[in-house]
Amino acid sequence: MTIDQINFENKKALIRVDFNVPLDEDFNVTDANRIEAAKDTIIYVLEQGGSVILMSHLGRPKNREEEFSLRHVVEKAGDILGVQVKFVEDCKGELAQKAAQDLEPGEVLLLENLRYYSEETAGNTAFAKALSQLGDVYINDAFGTAHRAHASTAIIAQFFKEKCFGMLMNREIQSLDKVLKTPERPLVAILGGAKVSSKITVIENILTKVDDLIIAGGMAYTFIKAQGGKIGDSLVEDDKQKLALEILAKAKETNTNIHLPVDVVIANSFSELASIDTSAINEIPDGWMGLDIGEKSRQEFHNILQGAKTILWNGPAGVFEMEPFAKGTIALGTSVAMATKNGAFSLVGGGDSVAAVKQFGFEDQVSYVSTGGGAMLEMLEGKELPGIAAMKK
Ligand code: AMP
Repeated sequence: MTIDQINFENKKALIRVDFNVPLDEDFNVTDANRIEAAKDTIIYVLEQGGSVILMSHLGRPKNREEEFSLRHVVEKAGDILGVQVKFVEDCKGELAQKAAQDLEPGEVLLLENLRYYSEETAGNTAFAKALSQLGDVYINDAFGTAHRAHASTAIIAQFFKEKCFGMLMNREIQSLDKVLKTPERPLVAILGGAKVSSKITVIENILTKVDDLIIAGGMAYTFIKAQGGKIGDSLVEDDKQKLALEILAKAKETNTNIHLPVDVVIANSFSELASIDTSAINEIPDGWMGLDIGEKSRQEFHNILQGAKTILWNGPAGVFEMEPFAKGTIALGTSVAMATKNGAFSLVGGGDSVAAVKQFGFEDQVSYVSTGGGAMLEMLEGKELPGIAAMKK
C-alpha cells in the first residue's frame, strides 16, 4: 500500500518518525534535519483530513532521564510543521490513550520517548500492540531506525490493516533502487572510508552490479600492499590482503573496472601539524602514511565520474576531518556535483561521506543524500531491513 491509496479522512495516523535530533546543554535542537525530513508526510496526512500521532525515540535513556524527553523537540517541530504540536508525557497507557482519543482532524500529537520503555528496543509484541491501539493507520517514516527490529519500527506493523511507508522512506528506497536495481549506465561507485573490513559486504554486494568501482580512503592501502606495493605506515588490515586479491580477481572475471589511487598525500604523523609530501601510492617511505588521494588520482577519478550516468558515493577519500587531508574528498565532491549537473543521478549515503558532503556544501549539488547512516549501509550490503520487511507481511 502506498500513502496515496489510503483515505485519511477523520483517521488517526500513527507515524513512526526519527526525531532523534541533537540537543545542546539547554535542550535546544541544534540540527533539525530529521524533523524537516518528516514534514511532507505529516502535512500530507493533515491535508487529507486526518490527524497525526508522532512516535520516536531520542537518545539511549536507561531510565526516564529528563535529558532524553521528547518535550524538548515540541517547539521546534511546531515551528517546522507550521502547526501546534501537542505533547503527552507517555507513549502508552491511559494518558497517551486519552490524548490520542481527543485528537481532532488537523491536529498533531507527539508521544514521549519510546525508549523510556525497554520493550521498544527489545521488540516486545505486547508493547507494540499497545502502541498500535493509538492509531487507525500506521506509517513508517523512520528510515534512520529501519535497520532495527524494534517494537515501533517493525513489530507493530502486524497490528494494522492499513499501513504504508512515509515519503522519506519512499525517497530512500527509490534512490537506492535507482542505483542498484535500475541504474542508467555506466554506474560508478566510490567506496572510501577507513577499513576494508567494515565495507566487505558492501563491496561483495555491489561488485557485480557496477561498471566502475573507485576505491579510495584508508581501505585502498590493503589492496596496494596485497599487490606488493610499499605503503609505509599507512592504515592496513593485513588479514584482509587475501580478500583484497580475491576481490580484484573477481572484478576481472565480471569485467568490473576497479580503480585505486595512483598517488597520495603523505604525512609523517597522523596530525594536522605533520610534515606533508606526495608519493606514488605503492612507494610510500617507512615512517610516512597516506592520508588523502593525490592530484593525479583526483583527475583520473574526475574523468571516470564525468562519464557516469549513475553514481553511488560511500566513504571519504581521505582524513577529511583534518584540513590538509580534505582536498581529495572536496575534489571528489566537486566531480560528483559536476556529473550531477550534467545529468547523472548521484546518491551519497551510508556513513561519513554524508558528513563530508554537508561540511563542504555539496548537499544541494547531488541528487540525494541519505538520512540514515546505518540503515543505508545495510541496504548497500543487500540486506532487507526489518522496518521494510515488516510492511510486506
Ligand atoms: P567510514 O566510517 O568507514 O566511512 O570511515 C570514515 C573515516 O575514514 C573518516 O573518519 C576518515 O578520517 C577515515 N579515513 C579516510 N581515509 C583515511 C586514511 N587514508 N587513513 C586513515 N583514515 C582514513
